[in-house]
Amino acid sequence: MIVGYTKPVTQEFSGEKQKALDKLKSGALLCSSENELYRRWIFAFKKDQNYPIETLECDCGKYTRKHKAYYYEWALEYRNG
Ligand SMILES: [Zn+2]
Repeated sequence: MIVGYTKPVTQEFSGEKQKALDKLKSGALLCSSENELYRRWIFAFKKDQNYPIETLECDCGKYTRKHKAYYYEWALEYRNG
C-alpha cells in the first residue's frame, strides 16, 4: 500500500487483480490460461462489483487446450446504466 498515491482511474483492487480489471475495461480479452487466478477474480468482479463480464472461447493460439477468455461487455453496462 502506497500512502498518498492518487490515480485518476478507479483503484478498487491491488496489483495483478487491478491490472486484470484495467485490461478488461480497456476492451482487451483476458485469456484464462495466462493466470489461473483469473477465474476467481472474474467471479468476484461479476458477483461483488456487478461488472458485465462475459465469457467466450479464447482463440489466442498460445495454448493447445481449449480455454476461455473474458471480456468486458460495455454494451451491457450502457443498457443497465
Ligand atoms: Zn487464450
